[in-house]
Amino acid sequence: MRRWLWPGLLLALLLWLFVIPQGLFRGAHYSTVVESAEGELLGARIAADGQWRFPPSSLPAASSSSLPAATGNLIPERFATALVQFEDRHFYWHPGVNPIAIVRALRDNIRSGHVVSGGSTITMQVIRLSRGGERNIWNKLIEAEEALRLECRHKKRKILALYAANAPFGGNVVGLDAAAWRYFGRPPEELSWAESATLAVLPNAPASIHPGRDREALREKRNRLLGRLLEHGDIDQETYDAAVTEPLPDEPLPLPAYASHYVESAPKGLRTRSTIQFGLQRAVEEAVRRRSDALAAEGVADMAAIVIDNGTGNIVAYVGNSSPDRPRPGVQVDIAASPRSTGSILKPFLYADALEAGTILPETLLPDIPVNMGGFAPQNFDRQFYGAVHASDALARSLNVPAVFLLRKYGVERFYEDLKSRGITTLTHPAGHYGLSLILGGAEAKLTDITAAYSAMVQASVRKNGHFQGRDLALWYTFEALKEVNRPDQLDWRLIGSVRKAAWKTGTSYGFRDAWAVGMTPEYTIGVWAGNAQGAGVPGLTGARAAGPVMFDILNLLPESRGWFQEPTEGVVANVCPDSGYLAGPDCPEAEPVLLPPAALDSEPCPYHSGGVFALPPTMEWYYRPHHPEYTRPERSQEAVMEFIYPSPGAALSFPRQLSGEESGAVFRVAHRHGNDVTLWWHLDGSFIGETTFVHQLRLCPEKGKHILTVVDNNGESISVSFTVL
Ligand SMILES: [Zn+2]
Repeated sequence: MRRWLWPGLLLALLLWLFVIPQGLFRGAHYSTVVESAEGELLGARIAADGQWRFPPSSLPAASSSSLPAATGNLIPERFATALVQFEDRHFYWHPGVNPIAIVRALRDNIRSGHVVSGGSTITMQVIRLSRGGERNIWNKLIEAEEALRLECRHKKRKILALYAANAPFGGNVVGLDAAAWRYFGRPPEELSWAESATLAVLPNAPASIHPGRDREALREKRNRLLGRLLEHGDIDQETYDAAVTEPLPDEPLPLPAYASHYVESAPKGLRTRSTIQFGLQRAVEEAVRRRSDALAAEGVADMAAIVIDNGTGNIVAYVGNSSPDRPRPGVQVDIAASPRSTGSILKPFLYADALEAGTILPETLLPDIPVNMGGFAPQNFDRQFYGAVHASDALARSLNVPAVFLLRKYGVERFYEDLKSRGITTLTHPAGHYGLSLILGGAEAKLTDITAAYSAMVQASVRKNGHFQGRDLALWYTFEALKEVNRPDQLDWRLIGSVRKAAWKTGTSYGFRDAWAVGMTPEYTIGVWAGNAQGAGVPGLTGARAAGPVMFDILNLLPESRGWFQEPTEGVVANVCPDSGYLAGPDCPEAEPVLLPPAALDSEPCPYHSGGVFALPPTMEWYYRPHHPEYTRPERSQEAVMEFIYPSPGAALSFPRQLSGEESGAVFRVAHRHGNDVTLWWHLDGSFIGETTFVHQLRLCPEKGKHILTVVDNNGESISVSFTVL
């Protein structure tokens, strides 16, 4: 048995020495800290225990280490030097306990009759900071014993870092990081010698930071330490002379507050290194603030913006809501992450998907006529119909009616699944709930999801050395269409400086509640939302007017594009009818070879050429002709199938006033030969005003003056009557 005694004791000693003291800083509460990609502080939130205590920088998220607090290896050189010089000059030489210091402390304390010096090493202080408890001999012995063990386990620098991360710096400021930011507004690595010395002496008497008589004592202590640093050769005379004249910090400073909504949603109690680019974030916040403050006067209170780096898919700027300091309800809401009505912002996805699937070719003519699809009667934003519009043009002009025809052809269910696979996470109802309105803002989406989905289109596209190839052809056509986006009148282009090249899309939700703008370059995707967090609509709030200018401001902040999307080289070449945009048929007089996605070969041939004559179906034709004077109407039978019952041609009408004083108008009537089987679309002075089925009558109250009332049936036959209201 005896021969096992010594090895056994040795083993026990080793275990004791090298097993980390348990529970060191266990349960400490940390502030939530979010840094930019470069490591700049974006913002922080106070810890659950009301302390400003930053998580150690090298602590991995959700560490399972038995040393949960502060194993940070990084400690700034100046602070480390100043701290060692002030607290424990032999720190690098002793094993955690300094017998000479203890003897000296005992001597001093006996001489003066009370405790003037602790003789504690920095290592022992780390243990004390962790354990707490009274200062007495028993605790000191435990601190010494635990300090020896800590030294066996950790390098000296790590022990310094543990001290720096957990020392008190006055008030509710704990740890060097929080102290540097609260007192000097900078990270600890950027502190001067005077500032580092101030923080080195502070944990010894943390209350002395507060204004009052202790301030002079603090200054003296700091300067004495600077003197020692000079003596020891850590600083030169010049540095010393300047350092002693530096003022002490005043009231704690507010911490940086960039990307505040982003910081708010960061994991609590951890230090997060985000992908936000510090300089860009600041510039984007400023751009959003400027535009948003101007719009606030018009009742548009809130604005959000996101920039994604298409190379990495990372968010590089994030404004959850503009001007967080402008008081208003809803300012805390992170609009960028809130589901909002999508307006037209999903249309590019449908165009790309339909191209990919061969549902349409890039220029296929889509109907733009009054239609009623199961009670759903889509209208264009300008309340006009154009008869037939090329698909790319319909996308660029964001026409609603062609988009609905396209969605019906492509399939609601199919598009719904596409949106989900594109990462739209807020489609909470089944596809049938949205129906065809899915493409016109019937669904809600978050700006974060939308911007990421647009960015994903670019990411999928520039994958091969900046070239679009093969299956990405549909995306290239989509970008081409969006590059041609009409510059709508609502956008005052004089307010925008130089306009960089971008593929972009705007969206406006029903009732002017949501304004969207998304822009893409090969390198970046920018998403902007404007409106009211509380949901109130503002007449005239359109994507182009409210969100477009900010999007272009942000675009101008970004590095200039290295080039544009390259024309693809791979795909299938097929002959396309330039008039209809369909595959050319035998009757088409012209055919142009076009590079297309493979599925295009299965699409239908041109339905509009017959015997070499371009002829649209009657209803399309009726709306198409006014916009296309070159269109010659093919021969058709011209029998009158309907006539006005009221009013008669050239009638002068006056409407009786009701008791309320309002004019009641009159009931206008049309007789149609096929009565119940037709739908009639009514237009007053060229503007669509309503439709009738079964009974063709409509109560109207036109303003005083001359008018033309036109009614068109689903065969494109029309009649007009002119009248005057007195
Ligand atoms: Zn044709």
